[in-house]
Amino acid sequence: MALLPIYTAPDPLLKTISKPVEEVNDDIRKLVDDMFETMYDAPGIGLAAIQVGVQKRVLVVDIVGKGRDDEAPQPLALINPEITWVSDDDAVYEEGCLSVPEHYADVARPAEIEVNYLDLSGARKSLSADGLLSTCIQHEIDHLEGILFLDHLSGLKRNMILRKLLKQKKIAS
Ligand code: ZN
Repeated sequence: MALLPIYTAPDPLLKTISKPVEEVNDDIRKLVDDMFETMYDAPGIGLAAIQVGVQKRVLVVDIVGKGRDDEAPQPLALINPEITWVSDDDAVYEEGCLSVPEHYADVARPAEIEVNYLDLSGARKSLSADGLLSTCIQHEIDHLEGILFLDHLSGLKRNMILRKLLKQKKIAS
């Protein structure tokens, strides 16, 4: 396993659309392993392949996380995920993103979803999710379309955060 570099906004790569995985092979399973390691190390509860510079429709989530005594980790890898149903009611969570470090904002999304995906053996699966898992999966699927949680905010708030991120990058380089 290896830690992968995380791309941060406003990197143009994060605005691109990821490509479907044609075959779930060892390369994809290696990518998923590395993504889990990178996500747990960050630490975060979700990561899309585009955030580590790989333009493929692959994402990993674990809303429990690693290293907690009270609950076992719940790693979940979704390949070529597609939302097939959303509830009428919304839920609001304060979201953050490993590609938007140190900024958080409330985002409203459908409270419940159903999603189809391929698992690590290439088998077609479907999943119903609510609560934080629903929000997390929707946030990650957005990444595959080049959408950040910032894009759900008002233009004013989004530009304020992007300007701060640019300033941080300039100081760092
Ligand atoms: Zn994110």
